[in-house]
Amino acid sequence: MNRARLQQLRALLPGFKADALLVSAIPNIRYLTGFTGSSALLLVTREEAVLFTDGRYKLQAGQEVEHAAVVLAKGPLVRALIGSVKRRRLRRLAFESGKVSFAFHAALRANLPGFRLAPLGGVVEMLRAIKSPEEVAAIRRAVELNSAVFEASLGEIRPGVTEVEAAIQIDHRMRLMGADKPAFDTIVAAGPRAALPHARPTRNRLGKNDLVIIDQGVILGGYSSDMTRTVGLGPLGEPKRRVYRAVLEAQLAAIANVRAGVKASHVDRQARLVLKQHGLDKAFDHSTGHGVGLEVHEPPRLGRNEKTKLEAGMVITIEPGAYLEDLGGVRIEDMVLVTDRGCEVLTPTPKDLRVL
Ligand code: ZN
Ligand code: ZN
Repeated sequence: MNRARLQQLRALLPGFKADALLVSAIPNIRYLTGFTGSSALLLVTREEAVLFTDGRYKLQAGQEVEHAAVVLAKGPLVRALIGSVKRRRLRRLAFESGKVSFAFHAALRANLPGFRLAPLGGVVEMLRAIKSPEEVAAIRRAVELNSAVFEASLGEIRPGVTEVEAAIQIDHRMRLMGADKPAFDTIVAAGPRAALPHARPTRNRLGKNDLVIIDQGVILGGYSSDMTRTVGLGPLGEPKRRVYRAVLEAQLAAIANVRAGVKASHVDRQARLVLKQHGLDKAFDHSTGHGVGLEVHEPPRLGRNEKTKLEAGMVITIEPGAYLEDLGGVRIEDMVLVTDRGCEVLTPTPKDLRVL
């Protein structure tokens, strides 16, 4: 599998007028080599791949890495890399411009005089956007575990509990039920706090009549999941129910428009159109979704101006919301697999409004 991925990447090098690509993003290194350590650099030339890591990872690299040579650097990885580049006479070196520090780039510049350093962005991410059947299976497991954790945690969502307490209970269950770890900081946001799309759990207590946004994801086997549900704490008035129905309608409309060949912005627009019909377009100001895989946020992005075309095998979220200062907020998020004819919703958790 990693051999095929490396080959795919190599086939792109001539198009970038590069002799080699220096991969520094850890998820990209994992994708290309199988290495799960947290400190590494990878050099992919037209003929070979060399992974630089340090002595702590000797055993692990030996077990995990199949199609790359492993160099255990004694000092800084960048120094070992520079030596290797010089020896191989790789004159044109592409690097991941969005993933390296200024200091790292300066070190390359200073130590590789006369070499051409070409900034390149998102190449491995582009490969990663299309998932293999094995990856889809891994993502499915992460999605199903996340949904099971959600169901098991609903009992904690009740008046009097603080947002922090509820979020901790969810994280705790994730670990107990087998997750590697949470994919991001779990969000529990209730009442007026639910009007903040990226609310952080606080000591505020959940109250009666509150809408509660719960956004959670697990990492399992290296792959992430991401789901949002909004539940109500009863009794819930009609205005809140109306907003919930509108967001659900927008979410379903966006899902109905997912298909290989469609522009990401088209899907985003469908959600906005529905919300506009309900007078809620101004209450939704984030993008409709994002890719999920080895990272919980990865390409493609489903925003207003995204020209990216969806392709079969992409796994994306669909997560419109509406946030109103006086009333709170609603977001509903599923993960879907893009297919030639449409999409498959991977998230099994029901979406009808639950009032607890
Ligand atoms: Zn998301
Ligand atoms: Zn989310």
